[in-house]
Amino acid sequence: MQKQIIITIIAGLSMSVCLIISPVLATDAIDELVATYEHHIAGRQGNMLIWKDGSQMKIDDGLEKSHQQRLKHADIEDMMRQAYPVGKCSYARPARNFDPGRVRNDTFFRKIYGNSARQVKSHLVTVKWFGRRLRVTSINNVDEQLRKVAADLAKLPRKLRKYLAPSAGTFNWRKIAGTRRLSVHSFGAAIDINTKYADYWRWSGGKPGNVPAYHNKIPVAIIEAFEDHGFIWGGKWYHYDTMHFEYRPELLRPATAGNCGNQS
Ligand SMILES: [Zn+2]
Repeated sequence: MQKQIIITIIAGLSMSVCLIISPVLATDAIDELVATYEHHIAGRQGNMLIWKDGSQMKIDDGLEKSHQQRLKHADIEDMMRQAYPVGKCSYARPARNFDPGRVRNDTFFRKIYGNSARQVKSHLVTVKWFGRRLRVTSINNVDEQLRKVAADLAKLPRKLRKYLAPSAGTFNWRKIAGTRRLSVHSFGAAIDINTKYADYWRWSGGKPGNVPAYHNKIPVAIIEAFEDHGFIWGGKWYHYDTMHFEYRPELLRPATAGNCGNQS
């Protein structure tokens, strides 16, 4: 009887340890974000992100939010909340509202890549993409990283080229369909591959928070080539967009990248 009580106490204690550990992990993710964008962010002080231009941004606004509210009004903490999964097991259908990387704070990206179409354009450079030319930002070496992706993709069997080109677009200062939020294409840090083989949650009859079916035709080797150089794939989102890749190295660092066990 006494043994049982002790076991119960131990179980209770380990549960509370888990509860204590979770926020610490979230804090680590913020540190990884700061380290990734060290050319733009000076550091953090408590709940504030300190930018190199001297401005400050609240990390956690302290508000309780639904997933849809997080998408609309993301703070910095919300952006790093879901761990982007890598590895073989990460190609299963994403769990409901599991959208790692899709929760973004517009102001954060405007500060890094430019606050207007004109500002972003001033940093665009050309990258060769399977017989065509694309325009992407040179900030954070996105152009260099995309060239590395192209070089790796060029080593894959030729039959995979049809998925990659023509690209459906890179830079485009625009809102995400059905929202008031800027797409990462606005910052010249995203690429859509061939739309002919694309699947998109809205095309399948999905509504925000209620996507009935998941489809994907993009081969794993292509996704891995992008992830190897800091680009995440929209096919790992519940609100999926399988032709879409965007440069988000903060989500692919060893300390932040997740696996299929933590889709929540
Ligand atoms: Zn896209």
